[in-house]
This record gives sequence, structure tokens and C-alpha cells, in this order.
Amino acid sequence: MAVKNKNVFDFSPALESAGHIQLKDQYELFINGKWTKPKSGKYFKTINPSNEKVIAQVAEASKTDVDAAVSAAEKAFNGWSSLSGKERGKYLFRLARLIQEKARELSVIETLDGGKPIRESRDIDIPLAAAHFFYHAGWADKLEYAFPNRKTEPLGVAGQIIPWNFPLLMAAWKLAPALACGNTVVLKPAETTPLTALKLAEIIEEAEFPPGVVNIVTGAGATGAAIVNHPKVNKIAFTGSTEVGKIIQRATANTDKKLTLELGGKAANIIFEDAAINQAVEGIINGIYFNQGHVCCAGSRLFVQESVHDEVIQKLKARIENLVVGDPMDKNTDIGAINSKSQLETINKYLKIGKEEGLEMFQSSCSVPSKGFWCKPTIFTGAAQSSRIVQDEIFGPVLAVQTFRTIGEVIQKANNTPYGLSAGVWTDKGSKIFNLTQQLRAGVIWANTFNKFDPTSPFGGYKESGFGREGGVHGLESYLKFND
Ligand code: ADP
Repeated sequence: MAVKNKNVFDFSPALESAGHIQLKDQYELFINGKWTKPKSGKYFKTINPSNEKVIAQVAEASKTDVDAAVSAAEKAFNGWSSLSGKERGKYLFRLARLIQEKARELSVIETLDGGKPIRESRDIDIPLAAAHFFYHAGWADKLEYAFPNRKTEPLGVAGQIIPWNFPLLMAAWKLAPALACGNTVVLKPAETTPLTALKLAEIIEEAEFPPGVVNIVTGAGATGAAIVNHPKVNKIAFTGSTEVGKIIQRATANTDKKLTLELGGKAANIIFEDAAINQAVEGIINGIYFNQGHVCCAGSRLFVQESVHDEVIQKLKARIENLVVGDPMDKNTDIGAINSKSQLETINKYLKIGKEEGLEMFQSSCSVPSKGFWCKPTIFTGAAQSSRIVQDEIFGPVLAVQTFRTIGEVIQKANNTPYGLSAGVWTDKGSKIFNLTQQLRAGVIWANTFNKFDPTSPFGGYKESGFGREGGVHGLESYLKFND
């Protein structure tokens, strides 16, 4: 295996403090425990979105390569599923520990390949990925306690397709429960952020997993479709856009594949007049600007009670002016690069629509680097329910602000969306929190906080945000058959 120590200064001067990272110039497919060249000989580039420099060439898996990966997973299934839960747990614990050991390197690679601030990779994504493996390692030998008096069996080969916003964390969300329950896996990372999943494949090799238990294939939509349509795949787990989720739902509709979909969102973040306003402002900032707003559960629709609207907006604007936008590798950066050129185009399209709809736009006066993909933190005030920027998922650092007077009005407005993934509520009154959590149609509701994740807590949506849950006991159900 030709591992080259890339000169980290190729990427960014702020990497001076990044330590030693090992990246190859070219990545192959991880099939049956071996690094395998794609049959077509095709590769695609993965770039650093903060400076547009090429980081590596990555293999593009065709239908034939996917077929080889599925066969390897199918062959490995009997051995893996008949290991005791305790043995499977040992592999997962080992993987979790290795992720912790390599946390620094993984954080740097995540930030280089995806553009998110290093502080977020380092403090959130990578520790949570390790936590997810630890948590599920603990379940591997306790499934009979998770589902008492029920006879469970793994499903077989799980095909898993993940997005670019939390690359390693989404790989962990998918792999950990599947493996703990005794399934084998073919996983495809997103085409703009394949590197941490490929690094994870190296770690899986180092942890000496039996060959074929985890296969990692890279490529774009066609590679994903080959996994979805493969007859030997027993389960599909997908996180991504509602549009592709619908294609996958149609493709699996007349098969016996089990399916879970985690799709888009347009979360309401609701601020009552009795909330601790300064804390709420921090929550609004975190809700929409965390990971440049590339978050399916982002608090992208802000509802402020009319009596505190002016105070909240004034504080919000002041806070936005203080956000540091720029080099993702700088540990003081709050907002990094937009993940890709095409995502930046989508966001810019919505900025134009917001202005054309007559909404008032406010952006930070910061400057952004000339190379790379950037969007300044933005808010639109005076939005209406009918505004496109209120209805559509933008997946960028763009907040739409509306006001409300009564609790009934805000519930009605908050639920008036095709999505139902998450919501936030800020108030001093527990009774209001309980009232809202009963009536808001969202899978996850945060109270006086936002964007808090934990492996013990199930995550997933209603309506066009998808179905099935990931995390907690609920997440295990998606990877098991119940024979009773
Ligand atoms: P986004 O709009 O956030 O880029 P997508 O839904 O397009 O999200 O992508 C999420 C994942 O789905 C990526 O890994 C992508 O390659 C994959 N994908 C895209 N199109 C298809 C498809 N038709 N079938 C299966 N997977 C797909």
C-alpha cells in the first residue's frame, strides 16, 4: 500500500499545527478486505472546497464493482452473523478505540475534504463517531435485552448511502448498528467527501475485521443506484436529499428490501418572549450556522414572538458580525467553506429568490477568501409562510425569520411544511415546552438548546423527512428481523 505523507502545507498555512496526516494520492475500492482497482479504470477528484486544490483521486465504482462488493458481503454474512454478540462487540470496541486514537488525523481530513471548521470536526464529528461505535459495541451482546422475549435475526447485506455534510459521523451512524446486529455492509460515501470513509476502511483493516464484513465503494449517484437496485442487498439505509430518497423509495417499492430514509428538513426554531434571550440568540446561531447550515435538522425557520422580535434581531445581527468566516483549518473559525460549487450555486439561487420576493436580507460585513466556495452568514426578515426561502430546504447559512403572537399560531406555522425532522423551542416555562412537543410534528425537538446529538437518542423524521430511526434502541430495529 503506497502511503504518501502529503506535505500538509500544500493545503493551507494554518495546517502548520495539524500534525502528521497520511493521505494517498489515489484511493481504490475497499472490497472483501482488499484495496481493489475499479473495473472501468475510472477515478474522480476530491477537492478541498476552501481553496479548490485537488486532494486525491478516488475510484469510481461501476455496477460490476458494486456486484463484487455485495458478493463479498454476502459471503461474509454467515461467519459474521454467527459470531457471538460478544465477539462482534470486541471488533466494534476496537474500531471505536482506533477512531479515538486517530481523532486528530480524522478531524484534519474531514475538514480538508468537506470544508467544515476544524473545531467542529475535532469537538463534535469525530468524538461522536467514536461514541456511536462504543454505544453499539455495547448492544452487540445485549440484543435479547433490547427486545425481550422476541426472536431477532440480522437482515443480511445492508447497502448504506451517506451524504457529505457529516461524512465520518454518518458512516458511524450507518455501520455501527448494522454490524452490532450481525449484518454485513456495502457503504458508499458522498462523492465530494469520500476521504474519511476511506480512512475508516484503513482502520477497519487495522482492526482485522473479517474480509467482506465492511466494503466501502466510492462513486456518485450511479454507484448509489447500483447498490439500491442490487437484488442481493436486503436493506437500504439512505441519508440525503428528499429528491433522491423518493427515487430510492420507488426503486425498492416492489422488492422485499427493508428501507430507512433520513431526508431533508426545515426546522422551526421558536423563541418565546419569556426565553433567556441571550442564550436563545446563541441557540439560533448554532441552529443555523453550525456546519455552514449543511445540516438536515438545522433551525432554518426562526419564529420569534412579536414582543421580542426587535431585540432578538438586533442581538442576532450583532452576533453574526462577530462570527469568524474563513479558513476551516483555523481553530478560531466559526463558519467554513461551502461543501461544493454546486451547493454554493443552490444557496446563491435562494439568496436571489429571497431578494426577489421582497424580503429584507442582512449579511455579515466580513470578507471571504477569493478562492474556494463561501457564503456569508445571512438572515432574511419579514418572511411569509409562502416565501420560497421558508418552504424549501436551502442547506446553507441562510435563516428565514417570521413572527408570531400566540402559541396556537406558531404551532400551525411551524407544522406548515412538507418536512418533519426537528424543531427547537426557547422558553422559561416547562408547560409550554410540553405543550409544544406534543403538537409539533417533528422527530426530534430540542428545548432551550439545539443540535445536540447522542448515540442513545433516536433520530429521524416524519412526512418528507423520511422514516425509520437511527440511534438508541429504535435504531437497532432497522437492522433486525423479528421472527415472532
Ligand atoms: P445532496 O443533495 O445533499 O447532495 P444527495 O441525495 O444528492 O444529497 O446525495 C446523497 C447521497 O446519495 C450521495 O452519496 C449520492 O452520491 C447518493 N445518490 C445520488 N443519487 C442517487 C441515486 N439515484 N441512487 C442512490 N444514491 C444516490
